[in-house]
Amino acid sequence: MRLEVLAIAAHPDDVELTCGGTLLKMAERGYPTGILDLTAGEMGTRGTPGIRAKEAAAAAKILKVSWRGTLGVPDSDVQPTRETKMRLAKVIRELRPRTVILPYWKARHPDHYHASTLGYEGCFLAGLQQLPLEGQAYRPFKILYATSFEGMAPTFIVDITQQYHRRRRAILAYGSQFRPAKSEKKQRVFLAIDQLDARMDLMARHYGQMIGVKYGEPFLQKEVMAVQDLADLPVRSI
Ligand SMILES: [Zn+2]
Repeated sequence: MRLEVLAIAAHPDDVELTCGGTLLKMAERGYPTGILDLTAGEMGTRGTPGIRAKEAAAAAKILKVSWRGTLGVPDSDVQPTRETKMRLAKVIRELRPRTVILPYWKARHPDHYHASTLGYEGCFLAGLQQLPLEGQAYRPFKILYATSFEGMAPTFIVDITQQYHRRRRAILAYGSQFRPAKSEKKQRVFLAIDQLDARMDLMARHYGQMIGVKYGEPFLQKEVMAVQDLADLPVRSI
């Protein structure tokens, strides 16, 4: 298999929330895309790993990804250890993605920032010829970082206006996380569905507005971007 884009994140539903629209857009342009969940999300307050796996499969279908897998790292204990990096490197060698999307390196949840480091270092290891690991050495060309965090300046924003409503459906596929059973309603829900919906809409509009479209998804990269033709530069200045 040879993926164009592989999005890696700590928990099932992280990718949907940060870059689901972009993955769908790439799939619609004919590129094979994939999602690697580092954990099965077994520490989540709601749902069981079995339920979350079904939800993840339903979301993957909506986002038209060609491949989705779980690395099997323990939830709430994502760490860039030698062992987890080697496991990730093996997957990178198998899928050979040109672009890898990782969680933004600053986050509240330790799994998210550790996933960022683990992802980067796993991609690096995958390219070492002498690594005692099966498969042909391979290193992705591009590493991007995705976030639903406010307060950072993105390097670029992808227009997901055409994909927004299906991305929303993919997120809502995680019914156990966002749609508590009626008997549970009195419990405190961290991300109640109406709140989540309003927040998703607000964030996507906020980033969309920055590039003059309705909905957008922000990305960061650590290197600069090259330009060939000033006449092709998008986004109005004044
Ligand atoms: Zn998460």
